[in-house]
Amino acid sequence: MHELPVTEDILRIVADHAQKAGATRVTHINLVIGELTSFIDDSIQFYFEMLSPGTPAEGATLRFQRVKTRFRCRQCTREFEPEGRNWTCPACGALGGDVIAGKEFYVESIEVT
Ligand SMILES: [Zn+2]
Repeated sequence: MHELPVTEDILRIVADHAQKAGATRVTHINLVIGELTSFIDDSIQFYFEMLSPGTPAEGATLRFQRVKTRFRCRQCTREFEPEGRNWTCPACGALGGDVIAGKEFYVESIEVT
């Protein structure tokens, strides 16, 4: 359900950029989504199809680029990608750490005609 406001944001950003570029139609929208966000591709797609008709983004293809979660260990500063729910540092065994990737959510680029 929280994909609705972010899809509205996407459409606003895309319409804004399309207008600045003097484009009449947007063909592709490239999104970057971190694993730690709980956004679901299918839900964004669903809301996009509901909201995009009548906007320059109508009929555009959404491309989702997923960013894997990365932590930096607070004990030994090793960077690692956790396996599922196992957030233990492979070097020293400390749990978790600072999130350095995985929370991304943005429009990376759009393609227009
Ligand atoms: Zn460590």
